[in-house]
Amino acid sequence: EAKKKGKNQWAMYDPMFEQERIRKSLIRQRLHVALEQRAIAVYYQPIIDMEKNQLVGMEALARWKDEELGFVPPNEFISIAEEDGFIIPLGEYIFQTAIFDLKRLHEQGMTHVYVSINLSLRQLKSEQFLSFVQQLLEQTCLQPHYIELEITENIALSDEKQVIETIRALKQMGIRIAIDDFGSGYSSIAYLRHISVDTLKIDKSFIFEVITNEHTAKLTEAIIALAHQLQLHIVAEGVETDQHVSFLHSTHCDKAQGYFFSPPVPFEKVVKQVQAAHI
Ligand code: C2E
Ligand code: MG
Ligand code: MG
Ligand code: MG
Repeated sequence: EAKKKGKNQWAMYDPMFEQERIRKSLIRQRLHVALEQRAIAVYYQPIIDMEKNQLVGMEALARWKDEELGFVPPNEFISIAEEDGFIIPLGEYIFQTAIFDLKRLHEQGMTHVYVSINLSLRQLKSEQFLSFVQQLLEQTCLQPHYIELEITENIALSDEKQVIETIRALKQMGIRIAIDDFGSGYSSIAYLRHISVDTLKIDKSFIFEVITNEHTAKLTEAIIALAHQLQLHIVAEGVETDQHVSFLHSTHCDKAQGYFFSPPVPFEKVVKQVQAAHI
């Protein structure tokens, strides 16, 4: 009894734990305010077609700079929003912004560009998600194949009926599905038998090593070959150097994104990049 109490006390007064808890609840609070004020921005990172050397897509990435907290990385606030379900309204806002921005791009004649949007498991589990997407498509008259939704291997591994059904329905609508961070985590490729996807995005940890690690280079080459064999598109993430680019050319990788081409930028800036690449 005494031991137990002592243990609890230790947990309670652990300064690291306490600090983390305070930051989390502050983020939670500020995040609600930020969404209300539409203070969350959506940036876009260009996706380049390696053969045409042309900007063909853009990944939507959430950006939040809070007055009190400063810049909070998406990995941090997204996972906090996932915990309490706030990812549903937040995710809808990001999704909607990305779709409207794509619409604007297409209205300006840049109809060869698609948008790629990250999804959380929570969103796929929510019953309102499909009708939300359907409504946006009707509202914007965008063709669904211009929309790619990125899910992680963990989501793809989910055996929940709701998740599998939702992915299937999205595919049936004509929306494309990508596996994000492919090869990271502890999953197996077995799920590729059960859900049909369109694109594999090779995790950046592979690309970072293709020049320095022969084994990783071979593995990456094999992933690209696998994708082609399965007639999937492949996007390399984390392309930072011209050596990475050369490697991807030599392995016939379809598409790439990374700081070498451009970091994620505000919408106005990506429009300029599309226009520049257009001429
Ligand atoms: P992700 O989906 O894998 O996005 C790619 C991340 O890699 C982005 O980090 C991007 O800025 C970064 N990146 C791009 N090129 C390079 C490069 O050449 N080198 C390096 N070192 N990094 C590069 P970011 O924006 O910090 O996002 C981190 C993660 O947060 C994303 O990883 C994604 O899982 C999540 N995330 C961001 N926005 C959203 C969102 O709107 N919804 C959801 N559910 N998740 C999001
Ligand atoms: Mg992504
Ligand atoms: Mg992601
Ligand atoms: Mg990724």
